[in-house]
Amino acid sequence: MNYLAGKVNSPIPIPSYYPSDIVSGTGAYVINKDGQRYIDLWMGYGALLFGHADIEIVDAVKNEIEKGWFFSYQTSLEKELSGIINSIIPSAETVRFATTGSDAAAYAIRLSRAQTNRKKVLSIIGGYHGVHENMIPSKGILDNDFLNLVPFNNIEAIEEKLVNNDYACLVMEPILANSGCTPPESDYLKKIRDICTKTGTILVFDEVVTGFRVDLGGAQKLFNVIPDISVFSKAIASGFPLSVICGKKEILENFIPSGQVFFAGTFNASPISLVVAKVVINKLKNSNFYQTNIELGDNLMRYISDQILELGLLASVQGVASMLTIAFGCKTFNSGVVLENINISAYNSFISKMAKRNILLPPLHTETIFLSPVHSAVLDDIKKAIRESLQEIKNEYY
Ligand code: PMP
Repeated sequence: MNYLAGKVNSPIPIPSYYPSDIVSGTGAYVINKDGQRYIDLWMGYGALLFGHADIEIVDAVKNEIEKGWFFSYQTSLEKELSGIINSIIPSAETVRFATTGSDAAAYAIRLSRAQTNRKKVLSIIGGYHGVHENMIPSKGILDNDFLNLVPFNNIEAIEEKLVNNDYACLVMEPILANSGCTPPESDYLKKIRDICTKTGTILVFDEVVTGFRVDLGGAQKLFNVIPDISVFSKAIASGFPLSVICGKKEILENFIPSGQVFFAGTFNASPISLVVAKVVINKLKNSNFYQTNIELGDNLMRYISDQILELGLLASVQGVASMLTIAFGCKTFNSGVVLENINISAYNSFISKMAKRNILLPPLHTETIFLSPVHSAVLDDIKKAIRESLQEIKNEYY
């Protein structure tokens, strides 16, 4: 029985060769109702830094829930976590907690417009910043005349747009993760920072994917570029609904009640999500998570790259640390896969071959593979399946 509209709760259809009856997860695996285990390489869209059902998170949630889970009054926890965020995120002079990445990105745009008295928003082709009306083209949404898009890693395109000092903000992922994982070229982000400062454009880093995953201080720390506003979600609470809008005090203070920018949300700063965020940050601080994940990602990317070369495929693999993408039909993609002549059919065929071997990749070619230290134990299985699947792709396509 499936009364879900269009059978799903997402814009992404479920391929016929994917399970649609997942009931649990543990470590690197998701498990369906018949007990079939699959290695998960999508990891909750990147939210699950420590894999499925991490025991420390399970214990923290059990402990917290017994104390009550929802209060309309201010909690000690929200103040405490705001201090923790302030101490680890370079741009976080002040902080607000919301519920989803979409909320947080929409607030960042609203704050930018209020701060600058400008309407226009600049963003990146292939980026994604949520479901709200400002950014997404969709039937049912009025024309968005205030949005312009430029290609990633093209500094001249940004300069050209911002030259008239009439954009409220530039909203971007510092590592493009929604158009195949595409790292910024050297100095791209630094140059953007300079242009935004010169033109009075608020620089918004959408770290919904990169935050807490590539570095405890986010991509802004990794690349040493401090935006005016940043937004986080996904990994901070390892899959529990929580997002963060943080940035310069003078901008964030514009939120009501101290300012005039509307902000609300019944489920903002849910104690369960906040307590999980505390556990996540503690675990990240007190383990060699980043080193393990970087080594894992580098190891897998090197392996895939070697296979592509050896088999002579027109394909590429690229990423940063524990985020990576395999693309068919191009040798590299500096501005994301949506601007390349990608072979989507080869990608779909590849993931069907992986699924046959009980390994699940993102079922959309623009999405990113996310690794966690829990994948270390199954790395050899992943490599073997990739080798066999690529060999079959060669026979089919090349
Ligand atoms: N920003 C980025 C970079 C994202 O990847 C996403 C979700 N994929 C969002 C914002 C929106 O987050 P949510 O789905 O939680 O609203």
